[in-house]
Amino acid sequence: MHNITEELMQTELLRDVAEPTLRQLMAKSTPMELQPGAILLTPERDNEYVYLLLSGALSVHFGTPDSPPIHKLMPGTSVGEMSIIDDTYPSAYVIAQEASRVFPIHRDVIQLVVSEIGPIARNLLRTLTRGMKANTQLITKDRLQIWELTDQINVDGLTGLYNRRWLDNALPRLLAQVHKGEQTLCALMIDVDRFKVYNDTQGHQGGDQALVAVGKVLKNTVRPYDFATRYGGEEFLVLLPNTPLAEALVVAERIRHAAENKTITNLDGTPLPGITISLGLAISTPDATATTLIGAADAQLYRAKKEGRNCVRS
Ligand code: GH3
Ligand code: MG
Ligand code: MG
Repeated sequence: MHNITEELMQTELLRDVAEPTLRQLMAKSTPMELQPGAILLTPERDNEYVYLLLSGALSVHFGTPDSPPIHKLMPGTSVGEMSIIDDTYPSAYVIAQEASRVFPIHRDVIQLVVSEIGPIARNLLRTLTRGMKANTQLITKDRLQIWELTDQINVDGLTGLYNRRWLDNALPRLLAQVHKGEQTLCALMIDVDRFKVYNDTQGHQGGDQALVAVGKVLKNTVRPYDFATRYGGEEFLVLLPNTPLAEALVVAERIRHAAENKTITNLDGTPLPGITISLGLAISTPDATATTLIGAADAQLYRAKKEGRNCVRS
């Protein structure tokens, strides 16, 4: 059994608080257990408690619960006090990062304590809280903008696939994870066949729509845990984590087939000729780097081109 009094006295909020007051607080509340992922506070939703974090960890998220956490709360800290003092809604999501225990104190109890301090101290508290809240709101806006921008700079504007910038960041990290877990990563390099001719006959805008079509094919064909990227102009790279070569070959063939059968239309709705693609597939070796893995897939792509195009080589 935990000695709650001792635990509470170790929190920042209740340090140096006399025992009778502590007992008063404890009489009205019991600790709450939170499962990982449980949402404790939601913006714009009334909050009635200050929560003292006794064990575990909580994370603070602005905007949406799945945005990156902007702050992590450790045992001994509290959350919810700003909205109680200021009598407004919480400004962020507070979510249990792991199994956690919190001690809720109802706002009536807090407000009673606050009413007992002198008016100057009380006014000071409110002023500070309002100032902090205004700052937090500014930070929220900035954070959300940064998040949106990060999303934009990692995505290719034409096809909506991940772009080269994303790949250059993600591939070394993916490979590090793969090596650590003694797993594999397949890389599938894709190049549109005779695309120069397509551009010359259909115009650059028509060519762009063909690339959009390839983007759609990739989005619809790869599995949720694969990554489809636009590597460069008319070249695409698909990453297939934890997939044996034989299985990746099936995915590659499915992509090739879907591309061949994809109808393409220009921006004005007129139909355009179809395209075909060539694909080169490679699987990571235990010492693979981003350069060697892409190089190996590229070599296979070169073979596919040489051996007639519209085919997969591995
Ligand atoms: P191969 O079958 O050997 O791949 O022949 P290819 O003509 O596709 O080969 P190459 O790589 O020489 O030509 C690629 C062409 O792709 C050149 C360029 O005009 C076109 N291209 C590259 N990026 C874009 C783009 O963003 N939009 C359009 N419309 N065309 C692009
Ligand atoms: Mg090319
Ligand atoms: Mg090409």
